[in-house]
Amino acid sequence: MINDPGLYTGDISFFKGREMTYYGRWTYKYEEAARQGADGIIIIHETEGAGYTYAVPRNSAISSRFYLHNNRNSKFLCRFSGWLSAQAADKLFTNCGLNVAKLRMEACKKGFKGFPLNMEISLTIRNSVKYNNSRNVAGILKGRKRPEECIVYTAHWDHFGIGEPENGDSIYNGAVDNGTSMAWALAIGKAFSQLKQKPDRSVILLFPTSEEQGLIGSIYYTENPVLPMKKTVACINNDLLLPIGRMKDIMITGYGQSELDDFVERAASAQGRYVINDPNSHTGMYFRSDHFAFAAFTFTPSY
Ligand SMILES: [Zn+2]
Repeated sequence: MINDPGLYTGDISFFKGREMTYYGRWTYKYEEAARQGADGIIIIHETEGAGYTYAVPRNSAISSRFYLHNNRNSKFLCRFSGWLSAQAADKLFTNCGLNVAKLRMEACKKGFKGFPLNMEISLTIRNSVKYNNSRNVAGILKGRKRPEECIVYTAHWDHFGIGEPENGDSIYNGAVDNGTSMAWALAIGKAFSQLKQKPDRSVILLFPTSEEQGLIGSIYYTENPVLPMKKTVACINNDLLLPIGRMKDIMITGYGQSELDDFVERAASAQGRYVINDPNSHTGMYFRSDHFAFAAFTFTPSY
């Protein structure tokens, strides 16, 4: 099932209450199933838990899926993985007297353990595999005092390409997600390069590829960084700017996850602005963009 029990119980002593933890994220579930030796994993989709409708996993399943070749995480993949709509899961469960709502209620109780459904499934999957290349794009401004240390600004350059048409248009341009953030990063790079005195640390602008496919470009970068990850002080990422004009609040996705909050708070108050927490932290946005590849690199050897 998607998400973690805290979402439904709201109990902040159990997981993190309504805020999603990484254990609620489908990527973690995929990895954990493989670590437990499962042949395959099927995640039951529910819109509240996923933070998006079934159209999202469905759309990514009907076009080709990208994987990073030879990354150290690839041994944490099952032989097959995918999603099932709650509706389809209900149909499947009919024979065992179960339904998704009932199962979710049980799974939210402390001490819940998995159990066999006493059903068998046999399936054949035909895959065609194609090798392809894509590029991360990066620029570096060498620091004056500590050039071996760096701060990385990231904004992914990819979007969804060509998909199912919406209002007769099948091209997904991605002007907001993520053209706006690329402009943000370029403006920051320009401002740094025009400083009379260059910054102490190096500044890297990184435009990762294939973010929408699962942070592929940024994971590759953390495994093949321009400057060592140990000397990478911070990653500041933007994944779409709201094109609704100037505002006073600065929303930090992943508020409370790093010391950067304090720096943002100070800079914001100097401009008469204030910082707010992510109002939708249950959707797990913190785990869904390129900064997370940098954060995960520091806490899990399997990632
Ligand atoms: Zn994006």
